[in-house]
Amino acid sequence: MAKKKELDDSEIDALFDFDEMEEDEMITFRCIDCGREDEVPDFVVDDFSFDLGEGEEVETVCPFCNGTMRKARDVQRD
Ligand SMILES: [Zn+2]
Repeated sequence: MAKKKELDDSEIDALFDFDEMEEDEMITFRCIDCGREDEVPDFVVDDFSFDLGEGEEVETVCPFCNGTMRKARDVQRD
């Protein structure tokens, strides 16, 4: 019997979820270690900001290298 790859329901649900997420504002984070970018929903960033002191930046963990990611919004695109 030949094996066949199929999308299961959870994968299809994930696609729809991603669509809905686009209604939220996404903030781009860039890893200071590997330079890759990841987008984080605005409300998650707000949640992270809650614990920060004055002048501190929101930092997330890079999903690619476990390094430190910071907001990339100040970086100009070419
Ligand atoms: Zn990284």
